[in-house]
Amino acid sequence: MTLAPNVYDAEPIPDAARAEIDRMLASGDLFRYTAPEDAPVALLEAEFAEMMGAKYALAVASCSAALFLSLKALDLPRDAKVLIPAFTFAAVPSAVVHADCQPVLVDVGDNYRVDMEDFATKLTKDVGAVIISHMRGHTSDMDAIMDLCTKAGVPVIEDAAHSLGTLWNGQKIGTIGKIGCFSFQSYKMLNAGEGGIMITNDADLAARAVIMSGAYEHNWKKHKTPHGENSSDLADAFARWQNKLPLYNTRLSNLSAAVIRPQLAELERRVTDGLKNHDYVADKLNQSSWIDVPPPLAPETRAPDSIQFNLVGMSDEQTRAFQDSAKTRGVSVQVFGMSTDNARAFWNWEFIGEQGPLPRTRDMLARACDTRLPVRLQKPELDFIADALVAAAADVMERKAETAA
Ligand SMILES: *Cc1c(COP(=O)(O)O)cnc(C)c1O
Repeated sequence: MTLAPNVYDAEPIPDAARAEIDRMLASGDLFRYTAPEDAPVALLEAEFAEMMGAKYALAVASCSAALFLSLKALDLPRDAKVLIPAFTFAAVPSAVVHADCQPVLVDVGDNYRVDMEDFATKLTKDVGAVIISHMRGHTSDMDAIMDLCTKAGVPVIEDAAHSLGTLWNGQKIGTIGKIGCFSFQSYKMLNAGEGGIMITNDADLAARAVIMSGAYEHNWKKHKTPHGENSSDLADAFARWQNKLPLYNTRLSNLSAAVIRPQLAELERRVTDGLKNHDYVADKLNQSSWIDVPPPLAPETRAPDSIQFNLVGMSDEQTRAFQDSAKTRGVSVQVFGMSTDNARAFWNWEFIGEQGPLPRTRDMLARACDTRLPVRLQKPELDFIADALVAAAADVMERKAETAA
C-alpha cells in the first residue's frame, strides 16, 4: 500500500544559500544597513523588481508588514474605508486596522473570487483604498476592478502573498495595482520562514514605504533600483520625505534574503509543476458528482501549491463525514467555514466588529475545502490524494445511499 504523501515539508533550500550564510555567520553582517552597498536584502530587492518588471521593491518582515506600509505610504486619512474581500486571511483586516483604517468586507462567490456586484455597490466615495487578496492564488476579475477603481480614483493594493507567478492576461500578478505585496512565509512559493516584499512603480510610494520600514537617516541611499543606480526620481522622492515620517522598523534580515535569493531561479519550475499537479488532481476530482473545482477566469494562468474545491449536495453532517473519511484515507481536508476559530472565516475577525450579511461568502465557506498540494509531489502521490478524496465523497454519498436503499 502506498503511504499517505507528506504534504507538510517544504522543499530544501538550494545549496547556494550555504556559502553566503557561512560568510555572514563569520562576519556577523546580518543587518541590511551595515554594509555600504550591495547587502543581500538590497540585492534581493533589485533582483525581485527586475524579475517582476517593477521599478522599486522593498523587502520587509512579512507580507502583513508590506500591506500595512502600503496603506501608510498612500497617506490615507484616519478611519478611511478600505475594501477587502470577505474571503482572506485574518492578517489582512489586521493590517488595515494597524494602519488606522476601517476594513469593509466585500462578498466572495463560490469560485473564491470577489463578487463584482457587491464590489461596485461598496466602492463608495468614502473608500480610500482597495486591497484585493488573490486568496490561495485565485485571481478576481482584475479588469473589472481596475476599471471601476481607476474611474473612482481609488488606489488598488494587490495582496499577492500566495500568488507569486500567477498571470492575468499574461501580466504578472502584483504589477496590476499601484502596489503588489508578496509573502516569503514557509507555505508560499518562496520560503524564508518569514518575510515579505512590496513592489511599485511610484517613486513617492516607494520612498515613503522605505523610510517607514526603518531606513533611518540616510540609509535610503543603500536601496538599489533594478539597474543598479539610484534613479533621480527616487532620490528626489527621498529628499521630499526625509524626517517627515515615523519609522516602524519592520525590516528584513540579510539571513532571510540569503535564503530567498537562490530560490528566485527555482520559481519558474515551481509554478509550472504546481499548475500541472493542480490541474491533474482537479480533473480527477471533477469526475466525482460530489466535488466541484471551480475553473480559473479566462485571463488567468494560475500558480497553485494547494487545491480548493466545493462539496456539492452535502449537508453539514455529510461534509463532516467527508472530512473524517478523507482523514482515515490519509488526506487532511480543511473546510474553511467548519473548523473552530478558522482564521479565514470572517465571523472570527471579531476585532473589526460586526460586518454585513455576506451571504455568498458564508455559503461558500461552509462547503469550500482546502488540501495542500506542494509542487514537489509526483504522480503516484497526486493519485493517492485525488483517489482518497473521490472515494471519501463516495463513502458518504453513495455507500450510505446503498445501505439505505
Ligand atoms: C499568507 C498570506 C498573508 C500573510 O502573509 P505573512 O507574510 O504571513 O504576513 C496575507 N494574505 C494572504 C492571501 C496570504 O495567503
